Amino acid sequence: MRDHVTCPTTRCVTKHNANMSTKMIIINGGRIALIFFLTLAATHVATLVRDTTTDAERWQNAFLDIPTAEETRRHLQYYTSIAHSAGDYETAVYTHERFLEYGFNSTILEEEVLLSYPIQRRVTLLHPVFYEAKLKEASYSQDDTMHHPDVMDTFNGETPYDDSNLTLTGYSPSGNVTAEVVYVNYGSRADFDLLLASGVELTGKIALARYGGLFRGTKAMIAQESGMIGLLIYSDPIDDGGNTFPDGPYRPTTGVQRGSVQFLSICPGDPRRQVCQPDDENYTYEKGIPSIPVQPISFEDALPILQNLGNHTIPRNMWQGAANNTHVGPGPAVVNLFLDVKFNVTTIWNVVGTIPGTNPTETVLLGNHRDAWVFGAVDPNSGSSALLATARAFGVLYRKGWRPKRNIVFASWDGEEYGLLGSTAYAERKDRNNDEVVAYINMDTAVSGTTLDAAASPSLEKVFRKVLEKVKDPNTGTLLSTLFQSKKIRTLGSGSDYTSLLDHFGVPSLDFSFDGHYGVYHSVYDDFYWMSHYGDPTFEYHRAAAQIFGLVAMEIAESDTAALDFVRYSERLEEYYVETLNYVKAINSSIDMNELKDVIEDFKEAAEDYDKDIQKNSQKSELYARATKLERAFIGEIGLPGRPYYRHVIQAPGLYEGYGSSPFPGLMQTSGQRNWKMFDRQYRLLVERIEAATLVLEGK
Ligand SMILES: [Zn+2]
Repeated sequence: MRDHVTCPTTRCVTKHNANMSTKMIIINGGRIALIFFLTLAATHVATLVRDTTTDAERWQNAFLDIPTAEETRRHLQYYTSIAHSAGDYETAVYTHERFLEYGFNSTILEEEVLLSYPIQRRVTLLHPVFYEAKLKEASYSQDDTMHHPDVMDTFNGETPYDDSNLTLTGYSPSGNVTAEVVYVNYGSRADFDLLLASGVELTGKIALARYGGLFRGTKAMIAQESGMIGLLIYSDPIDDGGNTFPDGPYRPTTGVQRGSVQFLSICPGDPRRQVCQPDDENYTYEKGIPSIPVQPISFEDALPILQNLGNHTIPRNMWQGAANNTHVGPGPAVVNLFLDVKFNVTTIWNVVGTIPGTNPTETVLLGNHRDAWVFGAVDPNSGSSALLATARAFGVLYRKGWRPKRNIVFASWDGEEYGLLGSTAYAERKDRNNDEVVAYINMDTAVSGTTLDAAASPSLEKVFRKVLEKVKDPNTGTLLSTLFQSKKIRTLGSGSDYTSLLDHFGVPSLDFSFDGHYGVYHSVYDDFYWMSHYGDPTFEYHRAAAQIFGLVAMEIAESDTAALDFVRYSERLEEYYVETLNYVKAINSSIDMNELKDVIEDFKEAAEDYDKDIQKNSQKSELYARATKLERAFIGEIGLPGRPYYRHVIQAPGLYEGYGSSPFPGLMQTSGQRNWKMFDRQYRLLVERIEAATLVLEGK
């Protein structure tokens, strides 16, 4: 153990050196020894003066040594030993007990939410040949987890509904539809437009889409808007490319990607909430989810359908998948899709562990979801395991005397997979105040390989890059800051638990992961076998994830300005401006956006002045208080047209992308819809909000 682990403060270092000198006297003795001691003491005083390491840095250095790869392996082994979709209490208790063991205040928070469970599901090709889809993922003898009775029962397809069983889709409604099939490629807005332009009849047909490109719930939304009556989504091996499980990291041809089909780009969280559409008096949960049945299937089950499509030829070669399919239909393939789905109000369990800060009114929130579609080795429990390693390390530091300025709160969310249910419920709790949360750090699929990736609010980019200067890439030993130097930090879209906090409440957020050949997403093969063979066999990347997670939290918890950087924010606004201007001008060249450009320039000047003031005034708390208010200024009152829950004027998930981000979403959405009246309203709102943010920076 290095000295700064046990004695991380300057005071400790002095004491430590004194002890060392005393030992020297005993060894040497006599007059010579006295001279030696004086020389030595002088040397140590000099060392002490030259040592510019701050207390905060000493604690950070101490922290880095604590998380181990072995503990993350142990946690992952536990989490993946059982299937644990939304509402699993056992994994909540495990997480709660770890928080308590590490010395945190920990609470299990119950939330009542709507969940769906399939009772029966059937996909049958009726014409021109008969084929009953298996809807079952193959098991392999070398992988022990696959023999778990829960899994075997579910995947034999015959077991009646039972609470311990797993689901295949979140929020598909029941349905019994029979129709000709149309292959719609990825099912994007552009794909549907191309089909319509080619004269392909869509109304009353069943869509067959492949995974990729956009969120599956958005595929359902577009299919439904196009008049289609059912949707099948399959995983095409051409989009994977590599050896398949258990010989490689990609899903075998029987693999199925489960997932939610909620309209996430309209509203996250429990779809029953009126806040999703506050002006719609007749709002019900059915409006937040598809009205048509949706079923994910394997490539093996999609193949007979793809091979029996005729009529229109594929409009582009790029539409061809691994089946070498040449036609889109409609027909002659006719399919019956039958789903019997039960909707239940169910309890889910968020676990929240807290280390109190010396300033109790400000909090750094760190989160990861715990619920998985099946075993969830990568998604989400690589993140859960790393989170526990970070939490334990913070517990160790706290016992040694570390007292962060701000509260540090660890959240283990439930119900993320259905629609970010746990984190949204937490963000909206009446007994909490999001204005106290200075930043939210998210890990979801934390480790599926070795390539670091990040998305963040612009104000958090700098602190993320800073902590990478202290963490080494486990394989090469190179600092991650060097490897990541030329990489861009993306703008946050949606698809994980930062969504409500950032897009509705204006909490600056950061999300990062180590990515790899993650070809088993949301399938039964995302298990411990996969992680220990392909994802992270040594668990060293789990350790690195825990280090990054913790260091970012420590930086934000200790810094006077919460480590937020607004000069970078202004540069991003300039980039968004150019991107949006090009997009809008291509649709309507007469649009004038000069005022927006001007207010961004004003914001930039204010950000630069603020930065200079911060350098000069190291003790000005009023100046620091502005930092934590800034992001809130970007929250508009009216939200986006048709999706008022999304109130952040700078970014939102794209309406037709779902996961992907749209900058200046009010302008992008309304110009895309050619609704110029709405465009004006959103333009005014954006200008106003940037002006408001400038005033915050100026302290007015
Ligand atoms: Zn996830």
